[in-house]
Amino acid sequence: MEKKNIDWSSLGFGYTPTDYRWETRWHDGAWEKGGLTTDSTITLSEAACVFHYSQSCFEGLKAYTTRDGHIVTFRPDQNAKRMQDSCRRLEMPVLPVETFLEALDATVKANAAWVPPFGTGATLYIRPLMIGSGPQIGVAPAHEFLFRLFCMPVGSYFKGGVKPISLQVSKYDRAAPRGTGHIKAGLNYAMSLYPTMEAHRAGFAENMYLDPATRTYVEETGGANILFVDQDNNLIVPKSDSILPSVTRRSLVYVGEHYLGLKVIERKVKFSEVKDMKECALCGTAAVLAPVGRIHSDEGDIYLPSGMDKIGEISGKIRETLLKIQSCEIEAPEGWIRRIL
Ligand SMILES: *Cc1c(COP(=O)(O)O)cnc(C)c1O
Repeated sequence: MEKKNIDWSSLGFGYTPTDYRWETRWHDGAWEKGGLTTDSTITLSEAACVFHYSQSCFEGLKAYTTRDGHIVTFRPDQNAKRMQDSCRRLEMPVLPVETFLEALDATVKANAAWVPPFGTGATLYIRPLMIGSGPQIGVAPAHEFLFRLFCMPVGSYFKGGVKPISLQVSKYDRAAPRGTGHIKAGLNYAMSLYPTMEAHRAGFAENMYLDPATRTYVEETGGANILFVDQDNNLIVPKSDSILPSVTRRSLVYVGEHYLGLKVIERKVKFSEVKDMKECALCGTAAVLAPVGRIHSDEGDIYLPSGMDKIGEISGKIRETLLKIQSCEIEAPEGWIRRIL
């Protein structure tokens, strides 16, 4: 198979239509058979539920090439299950895990020429989504739904080496207690766009959100979970019902515990404790792990001891170990790697 003529190392994180995507529709109580299509557009009624009442959720994962030339994905069953959780909370039909994986395999295979070669730092980013596609004017769930999975090559998050980023504590809230923070709903992103742009305009990479009820505890950022390393080299994982369960975070924590022998403590983390932490990092599919060097709030700036020049020691170790597991350089826990080609 001949690869597309792309300068893989200069790719950013943006949309490129590839040759194939996979689609199925739900109506009258069942999913259609579904299959690949070359049409990158979706035609919908002006009354489609998604346009008015934001009935939508999505997922994000990657496929990449290993050293020995195989194309693999990382824990896609976790994305399939999380999408089911999102759908249940949004009154959308659940897509079977097997159908999600069938769509994934078929789309990645059909677009194999777009999967970046090993060693380029680039990956194939995969975006599954579901929307309420049927017309709906009274406030109620749609009667028809559309699931689509498409993909595009994207560049590595860090060009020219991993660099610590700066966060600010947002004065806005991300997700209400007992709301939808724990699912991957498009609506969570709609309301975070304004605070995100405000953070960017002020020179910060991301917002750190606190719990809305008391504004005392650390939750997460707009699109990534937060991890800390304390003075005793324990991995500290903020706990809250409104944090999105990141597959990357759960994997990093597993790697910390089982591959590196770290102690993992999942608990509520007060913002007032952050100044005593040794390291802080964001985690999500895009960057895997991004070190945080500085956190700005009304009370001033916290500079993590790991500094603004390089990744902290523990963060660096868990990041490297997970990257090696993902690229099959070291053995993955059972079921983590799905070989597609
Ligand atoms: C998608 C997402 C993450 C990261 O999850 P991964 O499964 O690791 O990619 C973290 N926080 C939010 C709010 C998200 O939407």
